Amino acid sequence: MQGKIIKGIAGFYYVHVVESGVYECKAKGVFRKEKIKPLVGDNVEIEVLDESEKTGNITEVLPRKNELVRPAVANIDQALVVFAVTEPEPHFNLLDRFLVMMECKEIPVVLCFNKKDIASKPELASLQEIYRACGYQVVFTSALNQENIEEVGKLLSGKTTVIAGPSGVGKSSLINLLQSGVQMETGSISRKIARGKHTTRHSELITIDENSYIMDTPGFSSLYVNDFDKSELKYYFREFAPYEGKCRFSGCDHVHEPGCAVKEALEEGKIHPVRYEDYLEMYRELQEKKRY
Ligand code: GDP
Ligand code: ZN
Repeated sequence: MQGKIIKGIAGFYYVHVVESGVYECKAKGVFRKEKIKPLVGDNVEIEVLDESEKTGNITEVLPRKNELVRPAVANIDQALVVFAVTEPEPHFNLLDRFLVMMECKEIPVVLCFNKKDIASKPELASLQEIYRACGYQVVFTSALNQENIEEVGKLLSGKTTVIAGPSGVGKSSLINLLQSGVQMETGSISRKIARGKHTTRHSELITIDENSYIMDTPGFSSLYVNDFDKSELKYYFREFAPYEGKCRFSGCDHVHEPGCAVKEALEEGKIHPVRYEDYLEMYRELQEKKRY
């Protein structure tokens, strides 16, 4: 039988099987010899030990599509990055760092700006301008007035989505709303897992319907871009792509080289200064790392 690990705690893995519920499993398979540590998000093969007790063994970890280290999770389809339009004001540098990380991992991003109810039209327009121009999907929501929640729900349907964002932007409110529509079905998640729910900070997938999962990621404030070379950074800014290869020097990093097509685009207002500033800041960080 095949399922997905939605939680791992103290040597037990909780495997969600569509139709039959959640099984408490141990890792017993041959993969243990190969030192594969099962991760939340892993699709696994299990053998049921006791159907009424809902216990089993994981016998195989199926190949991973991708994995993140922090939070430790496998097979992510996309990230929903949540910021508030205002209160608190979006922290662009943090947002751009997150986008770079996801570009690096090739994980698609949906950007959600919440609290649209207290935002002014120009605030909404400027956010839209910056990020839609880069090619990101942007949704504006109000958890308070329940605006566009269904639209977000549709974007999550059938996928495993990491939800990230600083605190105070309305993530919990959104997650509650997304879950509430399907409370009945998720009742199939056993009581076993409901216990201890608020006593741990282990990463955990929440089922919002039978094949849609979300994961809330608390550790969002300390984001370093450090696992690649500074010359790679430019590829993670989507809006630079049309200018790639058009600079005077091949291998141009778009920093202080003369005849740079990206900087020209910046001057012509085709690349947003906020994004370019964040590019420079991250570039310098990567440069400094090299000196140690
Ligand atoms: P989290 O820290 O990101 O999980 O944010 P919460 O869901 O706890 O919300 C933080 C605060 O913002 C709470 O006081 C919420 O009532 C408020 N809030 C959440 N969503 C909205 C919204 O859409 N509009 C407004 N005006 N306030 C909101
Ligand atoms: Zn250049």
